Amino acid sequence: MDALNIPRPAWITEDLVLLEEQTRRFVSTEFTPNIERWNDAGMYGREVWTKAGAAGLLCPAIPEDYGGVGGSFAHEVVINRELSLGGFDSFGAPLHSGIVAPYILHYGTEEQKRRWLPKLVTGELVGAIAMSEPGTGSDLQGVRTTAKKSGNGYVLNGSKTFITNGQHANLIVVVAKTDPGAGAKGVSLMVVEADNAPGFRRGRKLKKLGLESADTSELFFEDVKLPPENLLGTEEGQGFAQLMKDLPRERLIVVVHAQAMIERAIALTIPYVKERKAFGKPIMDFQNTQFVLAECKSEATISRVFHDHCIERYLKGELDTVTASMAKYWITDLQGKIIDRCLQLFGGYGYMEEFPISRLYRDARVMRIYAGSNEIMKVIIARSL
Ligand SMILES: Cc1cc2nc3c(=O)[nH]c(=O)nc-3n(C[C@H](O)[C@H](O)[C@H](O)COP(=O)(O)OP(=O)(O)OC[C@H]3O[C@@H](n4cnc5c(N)ncnc54)[C@H](O)[C@@H]3O)c2cc1C
Repeated sequence: MDALNIPRPAWITEDLVLLEEQTRRFVSTEFTPNIERWNDAGMYGREVWTKAGAAGLLCPAIPEDYGGVGGSFAHEVVINRELSLGGFDSFGAPLHSGIVAPYILHYGTEEQKRRWLPKLVTGELVGAIAMSEPGTGSDLQGVRTTAKKSGNGYVLNGSKTFITNGQHANLIVVVAKTDPGAGAKGVSLMVVEADNAPGFRRGRKLKKLGLESADTSELFFEDVKLPPENLLGTEEGQGFAQLMKDLPRERLIVVVHAQAMIERAIALTIPYVKERKAFGKPIMDFQNTQFVLAECKSEATISRVFHDHCIERYLKGELDTVTASMAKYWITDLQGKIIDRCLQLFGGYGYMEEFPISRLYRDARVMRIYAGSNEIMKVIIARSL
């Protein structure tokens, strides 16, 4: 599916083309036949995680020493794009591979890396990052979850909400205050191994506007005892800095996702308007349709160029937070606009569940909200003015 027909960027090497084909095959054999069942259940089957792990599609950027294939972020981009182009926008692997595993890789001790990374690669562990709470999302310094010192370990108390992979996750990186009086310097990342954590409870799988088969959930921690080695890294109070350093990549993951959804929307719309007739001719023959799609294609191509530019800069270690924020806000805004315009061209069918454009419309809405809302992106950009 390539609605834009633009040449592959230089960062797509030959092995990435093979990975693209491999992922496409995996998606069509393992995902496509099951999607109705998963949508009805409101959740992916747990087995798909281990299958994806076995196929090498989880955490491809993790070095071989820790069980990975030693790829790069480019491998993640290829896999994430294929998942999205196949219509599997709700699968939580991009967060598992691109957010949770890198926290362990970048900030974990050697022992933590050896303990958790190989199992994240195989899918034996499913990762989640628990930042947001009922009372705070954008303002992370306002988190109320605490990890109080007890003996040489910690006791974790608090509740989190909107957590992606919340029902399946068994390795949860929790943002907590180890020193509630110290502002940002009092925040630490605590790792909860949920299979054996008395006091940990999963709440509701939340009902949502879109991404129905994503198991976004509430999580509760009540006097959960954690040994000292479950503080990520070796020093308390590093959590905020750790979160901030990884933000450009997290935003870029959303950018890649949004761009793939834009391209899928256009690719779905073109054949439909060529087929569907009104007033004795295909919808495509109306100049309005041509102009709308000409604008969508032009804008999608412009955003693809910026998307590729950001990926290239990230791969060179040069992507700054401001540029990543510009891309996140601008491309997800564009995504909303393009998908809406494409849906309009489907008429009433665009509103019907069996037409994938309706799902794209619902699934896209969250991208302006999460991974830092688009307003927060503008706050960050404005600071650079
Ligand atoms: C489907 C889904 C999945 C998610 N997955 C995760 C996850 O895995 N882990 C996790 O921790 N969180 C997750 N989130 C939570 C998400 O990151 C937050 O919803 C988001 O950060 C916004 O926080 P909030 O909902 O508390 O909104 P609020 O912070 O209450 O913001 C409300 C509004 O005020 C605006 N606003 C806030 N501050 C400012 C400001 N300074 N200037 C201008 N405007 C401002 C916001 O932009 C927004 O429009 C998920 C959310 C959803 C919906």
